[in-house]
Amino acid sequence: MKISIQGLNKVYDNGKHALNDINLEIEDGMFGLLGPNGAGKSTLMRILVTLMMPTTGKVQINGYDLLKERKEIREILGYLPQDFRFFTKLKTWEFLDYAARLAGIKSKKVRTDKVDLWLEKVGLFDVRERNASKLSGGMKRRLGIAQALIGDPKMLVVDEPTTGLDPEERIRFRNILSDISQNETIIILSTHIVGDISSICQSMTLLDNGFLSFTGSPEELINKSRDHVWQINTSGTDYDILKNKFPVISTIPTDSGWEVQFVADDIGDIKANKIEPTLEHAYVYFMEYLSNKN
Ligand code: ADP
Repeated sequence: MKISIQGLNKVYDNGKHALNDINLEIEDGMFGLLGPNGAGKSTLMRILVTLMMPTTGKVQINGYDLLKERKEIREILGYLPQDFRFFTKLKTWEFLDYAARLAGIKSKKVRTDKVDLWLEKVGLFDVRERNASKLSGGMKRRLGIAQALIGDPKMLVVDEPTTGLDPEERIRFRNILSDISQNETIIILSTHIVGDISSICQSMTLLDNGFLSFTGSPEELINKSRDHVWQINTSGTDYDILKNKFPVISTIPTDSGWEVQFVADDIGDIKANKIEPTLEHAYVYFMEYLSNKN
């Protein structure tokens, strides 16, 4: 599987230029699309899943032309939109059976096996008789992933999957995604939550105000912020000065004040210690100091 995007632009009717000259190659595996709200992630996702036409540009998915071969692309596609909701009286297993029928699985026996398999995989087998609309938020999201995957898509697009989930459900959802990542399948995970990307994506891109500002592995992004992440114990007005001067990533109370982590290009004569960056540090550093210079 391969997705190749060349010179992609999207200008909305109101003149908003939501995507600017996007060039991107995506190959098998888990791919993270990271960016703040309003960056253009959903716009890009909606174009890739054939729900919206680009203004200009070329996209090939598995050799198919996105502008001309939309039906073929839909057949290899699974999509979990951000606002996936159930307006259904169906039981959980019935909903999946319905999704399997929509995906073109005609044999009842094959469908039953697949439904059971996916109920197991996403941890919903025990609640299979429950009305789908009565599931908890996290369970609904897991049912959403199962319905997107039951037709064995070659490309799965998941938009902001962990928003609104509690930490336990968030981890569970990430684990499900990394388990299903397999050969000859592309999973695109669009998110503004750095933690969604760090643990599971082999490659990623940063979208900032409609522009791609970084494409590479999470490790490569982390390397860009090495030597620019700092930690200091501070208190009172020193803390206020620091906070106004540099992007602060975390502030933890201590006996005498605060332990503060921040990113900076140059800290002058401040007595802070360099620390090993995480992807979250790197994201903040990149967005603050590098992104708009690119
Ligand atoms: P994200 O998913 O990263 O939050 P979106 O793709 O939803 O970003 O939005 C990108 C930009 O395009 C935002 O400024 C948003 O307000 C604008 N936008 C999104 N949809 C429309 C639309 N239908 N008409 C006009 N502007 C839109």
